[in-house]
Amino acid sequence: MTMASSKKESPLDTALTQLRRAIDQLGLSENDWNTLSTPRRILEVAVPLRRDDDRVEMYKGYRVQYSTTRGPSKGGVRFHQDIDLDETVALAMLMTWKCALTNLPYGGAKGGVAVNPSQLSERENERLTRRYTSEILPIIGPERDIPAPDVGTDERNMAWMMDTYSVNAGYSVPGVVTGKPIVLGGSLGRTSATGDGVAIAVCEALRQKKIAQDGATVAIQGFGKVGYWAALALEKLGLKVVAVSDVKGGVTGFSSVESLQKFARENGTVVGAPGTETLTNTELLHLPVDVLVPAALADSITHSTAPGIKAKVVVEGANAPTTPQGDQVLNDKGILVVPDILANSGGVIVSYFEWVQDKQNFFWSADEVKENLNSIMMRAINEVAETSVSKKVTWREAANMIGVGRVAQAHRLRGLYP
Ligand code: NAD
Repeated sequence: MTMASSKKESPLDTALTQLRRAIDQLGLSENDWNTLSTPRRILEVAVPLRRDDDRVEMYKGYRVQYSTTRGPSKGGVRFHQDIDLDETVALAMLMTWKCALTNLPYGGAKGGVAVNPSQLSERENERLTRRYTSEILPIIGPERDIPAPDVGTDERNMAWMMDTYSVNAGYSVPGVVTGKPIVLGGSLGRTSATGDGVAIAVCEALRQKKIAQDGATVAIQGFGKVGYWAALALEKLGLKVVAVSDVKGGVTGFSSVESLQKFARENGTVVGAPGTETLTNTELLHLPVDVLVPAALADSITHSTAPGIKAKVVVEGANAPTTPQGDQVLNDKGILVVPDILANSGGVIVSYFEWVQDKQNFFWSADEVKENLNSIMMRAINEVAETSVSKKVTWREAANMIGVGRVAQAHRLRGLYP
């Protein structure tokens, strides 16, 4: 698929472009393209919400099960006013290749509600989460499809989802969602897992580029569940996080990630933290740093923002932060891009550990979680780096070839019913 430069690149365009390329590079057939470019199950639901003042509002909700070929589908639930079906399909597709790349026994899914959660009270958020869960109830379950947190949702939402599912089942079903509070069967290390995985990817990318880890400079766009934990992990590893941003803007000059997080928690944004200077999100992307971590939303690095990027390494904490045109610019500049399906896979890897622990009712220590996360991520990183060299392709192409190739192989081996 080719796109005119004036056309806005959507996450679905991006995902399909990357899939087409992987299919061609792997020498797969048109039958494979037809099978792999089609989501398996889409559920669109209306989610009514009674507001605290008794008004009733309707919101659109989605659950897309892109693939169940390699196991139950798995993917986050996003609460964001801008989500639509196309983006949800794109994110569910990425989850499919991500689970295959990391060799987890899952397909891929994504879901969400088109709502701005910051405008809901806690009680409204709970009612919306429970009603959404009950609308998608027939297609989720520990053996079918296992939701997790994503943008705008967290462990509170997972607790309400788990409770709603369990009340309907008549007994506790902790394995229906991951990213739960520890006391409800959550896993140690899940909260920080995506950020910890991003940090592992950053260190490996620096090693590839022969840049010293100690003192390497980092700018991070997005200071939520991924950005904050990545910043904290990188700071502990001796890197220097020089700038971070959120939806309201960015800052430089803070004394530590912890102190900035404290300010952000109390004020709802990093902007205005004592002793800092403010910058725009675009200025943050263009800082002369060693590492840039986009960890906010899709379509951040585009044909218009990519030319100004000076980082030597881009590690994608967010899903689909780089459009194909932005990617081309980064490649032409010789910037090493660690793609989303590899860089942010720490979240789904530890979600998998949580699901395994829930199935076995046997819980691991934090060290076991860390060790296993490290070993799965390093195996995937090494496979991608080796494929990139042997096939003379970028890391993104290599990651997609491995992920897509595994799903195609699973399809072939299972055969077509009937
Ligand atoms: P979050 O809601 O916890 O945080 C999102 C952050 O991005 C916030 O700081 C927000 O202010 C900022 N942001 C939002 N819009 C922005 C904009 N236009 N410009 C700059 N900053 C903006 O979400 P999260 O869970 O950290 O997810 C971030 C990204 O990482 C998403 O793409 C998500 O799909 C991806 N991801 C998340 C996980 C996970 O485990 N949470 C796992 C894999 C990938």
